[in-house]
Amino acid sequence: MALTVRADLANLPDYIPGRKIPGAIVLSSNEVSTPAPPSVLAAITEAAAEINRYPQMANDDLMARTSRYTGVPEERLAIGCGSVSLCQQLIQAMCTEGQEVVFAWRSFEAYPIVTQVVGARSVKVPLTSDYRHDLDAMLAAITDRTRVVFVANPNNPTGTALHTGELERFLDAVPDHVLVVLDEAYREFVTDPDLPDGLALAEGRENLAVVRTFSKAYGLAGIRVGYAAAPPAVAAAVRKVAIPFSVSRIAQAAAVAAMDAAEELLARCAPVARERERVRDELLAMGYEVPASQANFVWLPLGDRTAAFNDHLLAHKVVIRAFAGEGARVTVAQPDENDAFLAAARTFER
Ligand code: PMP
Repeated sequence: MALTVRADLANLPDYIPGRKIPGAIVLSSNEVSTPAPPSVLAAITEAAAEINRYPQMANDDLMARTSRYTGVPEERLAIGCGSVSLCQQLIQAMCTEGQEVVFAWRSFEAYPIVTQVVGARSVKVPLTSDYRHDLDAMLAAITDRTRVVFVANPNNPTGTALHTGELERFLDAVPDHVLVVLDEAYREFVTDPDLPDGLALAEGRENLAVVRTFSKAYGLAGIRVGYAAAPPAVAAAVRKVAIPFSVSRIAQAAAVAAMDAAEELLARCAPVARERERVRDELLAMGYEVPASQANFVWLPLGDRTAAFNDHLLAHKVVIRAFAGEGARVTVAQPDENDAFLAAARTFER
């Protein structure tokens, strides 16, 4: 009999990152464009000196530091290779074949991938006409087979965000057999005071897990590390399904150093948020539709013109993330990078 791979993987959606073009301005992956500070680089170098040894299996030092930093007890924490790994581990911990995972669409493109990998079914609930989560429709989509609901807040790629009251009402209404995974990859860029802090929300709830990352505001996208805060039984299962030693010695050290340097790193977020408002205002003045964003990117729902917009920007050496037929997501970076994007957007003929 011939060797075969799982037939159902044939239609697994691809995760398509932005193109790599030498010398281009990269606004495609919502990274910060400033390098890591010397203290983080020094911790990485120090960890590298012992690279012949495996890292701590249970991420002990990083778990302790994360617990102190977040106020979340260790029994409720899990560390992973970026929050995308934690999303996958949460699905592996909660779902088996035939069960359902509900999420808004469009949202983070890894959700359908991690769902399908375990043989579960994605239930995609369209965003509202103003690009926000349709919480009533998401509630209505929950069945006895639903195990997880993903909510990205702010949402990727639209940047739109749920307010505390509406999210609390949603969490109260979700049935007990469903875990809500609140993905706060961009939480540090939020400026609206009425947006929830997931970690505070999770304290008193047994149906809520929160995932956060060191990739974005903390500037460690290349290191691959994040954490989840979840009810103890869920956190234990998430730790259990992890690949042994998957978070490297260097990643563990870098994340600890990033928390030590949090004040310095997070001080970079407010200027990005101010740039976000400037970029949006300028795009609106040019006549683009741009929903209000609370993240470090903006969304241009260009529909059929998305591919042409992407080509135009590539010709100007600006790399963004285009979702064909839907829209373009553009990272807000340093003022000169944003200016280069705005200049190119100004000359696009719609
Ligand atoms: N969640 C959301 C909403 C994201 O946009 C991303 C990155 N694009 C991630 C999670 C994953 O980030 P990482 O794995 O680098 O932590």
